[in-house]
Amino acid sequence: MFNLILFGPPGSGKGTQSIKIAEKYNFAHISTGDIFRNEIKNKTELGLRVQGIIESGELVPDELLIELLQNAMRKFHGKAGFVLDGFPRTCQQAKDLDDLLDKSLDCVSLVLALEVNEEEVISRLLKRAQEQGRKDDTEDVIRNRMKVYHHQTTPLEEFYSKQGKFESLHGVGSIDDIFENLCRVIDKHLA
Ligand code: ADP
Repeated sequence: MFNLILFGPPGSGKGTQSIKIAEKYNFAHISTGDIFRNEIKNKTELGLRVQGIIESGELVPDELLIELLQNAMRKFHGKAGFVLDGFPRTCQQAKDLDDLLDKSLDCVSLVLALEVNEEEVISRLLKRAQEQGRKDDTEDVIRNRMKVYHHQTTPLEEFYSKQGKFESLHGVGSIDDIFENLCRVIDKHLA
């Protein structure tokens, strides 16, 4: 199995690129943000529990994530790997993921980061707010999500660099050009 993590700040294009990567390489695409939005839409117990947290731009508690991920992973059969989008977001989640994969003698293969400056991501997210009306895309919440990202998620860069698994790419440009660059790095690791 090739287990890829797409890494980057909110609005860096992880969702868009993950879908394309999953399609091209026959990977299962798992977006924890999409899973939570679906739970909220369906007003499930989990959805009601996390709605306020997500709408304020904070992170859902780590202990809720690993089981959710495990369930999502179980649903896929016959895939060549996973592309994780929005997970892990904390060092604890990264450790939990390692433990989970370890049980099936598997591991994280590669972490690919999309580098996009803060000004650009904020303008993309504000545009998305107008188009899709996501409740966590208001300016205040966006700024909080960026703060949360810097405090809780950027330390993962060191976590995965130490394992020699971290590579970053310039994330500004056309969707197709960025996709091509991502594929080049994935192909190098698959070879
Ligand atoms: P973004 O576009 O900000 O990267 P996502 O769609 O990935 O957003 O996630 C939206 C929200 O869902 C996050 O701000 C957070 O509250 C919650 N969430 C998603 N994934 C995780 C995670 N791995 N750990 C904690 N909270 C998460």
